[in-house]
Amino acid sequence: MTATAATADTSLLRRFGIGDAHCHPQDDAEDCARRLLALAAPHVAVMGTRLGDWGEVEALAAAAPHKVIPCFGVHPWFAHRHALRPEQAAAPAALLDAPSNGRDSPDRHPQLLAALGPGGDMAVAAPEEWLPRLRELLARHPHALVGEFGLDRAAVVPGTRLQPGWEHQLALTEAHLRLAAELGRPVSMHCVQGYGHLQVGAGGRAGGWDMLRRLGPAGCPPKIMLHSYGGSVDLIKGFTKMPGGLGERIYFSFSDVINGRKPGQREKLLERLAAVPAGRLLLESDQNSPAGIDSGLVDILGAVAEARGVSVDAAAEAAAATFRDFFDSCLSAMPTAAAAGAAGGDLGEAGQQGGGSG
Ligand SMILES: [Zn+2]
Repeated sequence: MTATAATADTSLLRRFGIGDAHCHPQDDAEDCARRLLALAAPHVAVMGTRLGDWGEVEALAAAAPHKVIPCFGVHPWFAHRHALRPEQAAAPAALLDAPSNGRDSPDRHPQLLAALGPGGDMAVAAPEEWLPRLRELLARHPHALVGEFGLDRAAVVPGTRLQPGWEHQLALTEAHLRLAAELGRPVSMHCVQGYGHLQVGAGGRAGGWDMLRRLGPAGCPPKIMLHSYGGSVDLIKGFTKMPGGLGERIYFSFSDVINGRKPGQREKLLERLAAVPAGRLLLESDQNSPAGIDSGLVDILGAVAEARGVSVDAAAEAAAATFRDFFDSCLSAMPTAAAAGAAGGDLGEAGQQGGGSG
């Protein structure tokens, strides 16, 4: 990272207008809005993950209206806490999958089941509790995305070997896609080891569930960001060639923290970054705090320049253009920094002084 840090600094984000396509700064609540206002990144797409944090996302959007693009959805890690049918809320074990080797089962975790049950401190939200709330938030924020939601084959309920139920994850993902299509909203999707379920694998491998293709252009959102893309290079081609204009709606978003930090991962990250068609590559920090957002974006920008064999400035210009394209409907509904008042400007200066190059 040192080579790229020397040539890319956070002022690039402000100068070119590169926003963060996917992050969760609300997890570090202390003084969060002020710290977001101080970032060099002009915009941050703040992803809600569950009924319980949507209020925080909405509050950040109110406190930093020109900076925060609010996003509302149910992350697959919290899938088992959001029922789609009334009977699931009363019997939470049905929303959990036990490992096939028999090494765990829901009945070995009475405390967890009690916490997920009615009145528990992680009580499963009934459909009438969270679905109307999601619609209401999206209606109140016409520039909001649907996200984060999606599929995660590797997700495990903390302290157990149980997983958020796979069939339930599929059903929730489809519900989010259909809602976003109905409301005409872009989406940010999470996908870990589940790409075959979105699109038939390269070479037409059997078993792909092919959700996007089955929903078809009319049933899919206008723009689909595959966040922290970790699928194969072949699948990038497959996604972008999906029929009926669907392929043109797919964008690939990359973070340094998820995609490129572990030993051996960097080479694969660079291969993916090189394979994404021009105009479809978004940058994200995926940070759970305002602290790492600017430096995370600069780090991944450096990787993009390296992978694509272009200057950092050229990579920055392209990244900014793709950000504006993907978030077009959001940005046109948001006030400009100048219109949001002097406070934003002052904080912006503070951010410039405080911003490190990571
Ligand atoms: Zn995320």
